[in-house]
Amino acid sequence: MHELSVAQLSLGLREKQFSSVELTRSYLDRIRALDGHYNSFVTVDENGALAAAAAADTRLAAGETGPLLGIPLAHKDIFCSRGVRTSCGSKMLDNFVPPYDATVATRLRDAGTVMLGKTNMDEFAMGSSSESSFYGPVRNPWHSDCVPGGSSGGSAAAVAARLAPLATGTDTGGSIRQPAAFCGITGLKPTYGRVSRLGMVAFASSLDQGGPMARSAEDCALLLNAMAGFDPLDSTSSELPVEDYSVGLQQPLAGLRIGLPREYFGAGLDAATGERIHAALALLEQLGAILVDISLPHTGLSIPTYYIIAPAEASTNLSRFDGVRYGYRCQQPRDLHDLYTRSRQEGFGDEVKRRILVGTYALSAGYYDAYYRKAQQVRRLIQEDFLKAFEQVDMIAGPTTPGPAFTLGAKGSDPLAMYLEDVYTLAVNLAGLPGMSVPAGLVDGMPVGLQLIGQHFREARLLNVGHQLQQASDWHRQVPPVGARSAGEGVWSSPGLSPAERAPTEWAPTERAPAERAPTERAPTGGAP
Ligand code: GLN
Repeated sequence: MHELSVAQLSLGLREKQFSSVELTRSYLDRIRALDGHYNSFVTVDENGALAAAAAADTRLAAGETGPLLGIPLAHKDIFCSRGVRTSCGSKMLDNFVPPYDATVATRLRDAGTVMLGKTNMDEFAMGSSSESSFYGPVRNPWHSDCVPGGSSGGSAAAVAARLAPLATGTDTGGSIRQPAAFCGITGLKPTYGRVSRLGMVAFASSLDQGGPMARSAEDCALLLNAMAGFDPLDSTSSELPVEDYSVGLQQPLAGLRIGLPREYFGAGLDAATGERIHAALALLEQLGAILVDISLPHTGLSIPTYYIIAPAEASTNLSRFDGVRYGYRCQQPRDLHDLYTRSRQEGFGDEVKRRILVGTYALSAGYYDAYYRKAQQVRRLIQEDFLKAFEQVDMIAGPTTPGPAFTLGAKGSDPLAMYLEDVYTLAVNLAGLPGMSVPAGLVDGMPVGLQLIGQHFREARLLNVGHQLQQASDWHRQVPPVGARSAGEGVWSSPGLSPAERAPTEWAPTERAPAERAPTERAPTGGAP
């Protein structure tokens, strides 16, 4: 059952081969049995999931159909979920139970999906490894010593480990595409404005975008169909009508012009990863695409530009966490100033503090012109590179990341090395374009991804190309070798709780306390509320 596509699951539900409650239970059992290895969930909402599944079964019995009716899924813990804790991977929001749903959550609930729980992530979506979570690092299902990528690493690991058929993610600079690549799944960052940001905890408002993560482009299309669309409550949401992303999947690729930016195939690209990317491109060529060499000359400026703009926006967005309105509050503040400073000092982790410092500096009166304004000007140049390229080609392709997943802890102490991970993904967000990562095979047993970048609002074409590639290859069907790549006979060397350690009573009422979880340097240190 866990290998079936969403269309197959939906057919099984309609034909009464299994009910949504049975399907949901089987996923909950799998999460309970296996997630001790991965730490991909922060919260599992067993009761809520079973109630939603029962409601879906009632709708199915009444003859209602819908491609996602009764299908389980996981939400990144950045999407507000009414009545279910939404932590954003932070101690700051460890106690936050939203009184409302994100628009994405509402839409997916209305479509009849069943939320299994909330997935682990880098704190406030800042990171490329899912190691900065307050709830401990996520492990890559392909190798327990490796990171799953980030910040949507919990969603990617959950889908790859078959703990959920679908998951939502968000991508500010690569956080859907990079973990999708590292975990061997498919993930799409839509055009800025295509998916509502209402109720998505804000990191960098001009860059953040929610999107689908699944095993195939076909499944991503079904999920995007339900996620996308105008939201009057999000002023940056696009009013452009949404296409049905499933209808064009079969379109042939003959004559499709795909640009290969020379800057994406330079010295920074790992040789074996480059070979996998070229093999995927050769397949697209066989399918009728025409490969064209292009240049995106300002690519080298995307890291410095992003790492001014994103922290600047983050520093303003995160000013709302002051210990007064909601979220973490320090114990016994001496006065108001102490309340602000100590709540923020104790509630935020190191990477978040680093970004607040950088962003505040870049926006300060004396430096605004030198940094923030300059970065906005360069952002325009980066965008113009793409617009110029799209005069020659329909789509752009290259690697999603410079190489396969790195080992846990390898880049944790070196923020710059971590930022370099984003070299091929950031520009897409700066330009507001849609981008997708599809599996392109393995390097030393670890997945790598081919990135496809489309013109604004051309998600359908990206999904079409991804689907055609997946019809002609089996890279997306490769399954992580559960238990096979860790120490001992099938025993995982995970710091997470073993299934036995997680008594059902502790697990059932949804939330796991951080102190019970895998220790990180700072997680359970003093000052706990
Ligand atoms: N890795 C990038 C960062 O740390 C992107 C994160 C994201 O897309 N949310 O900012």
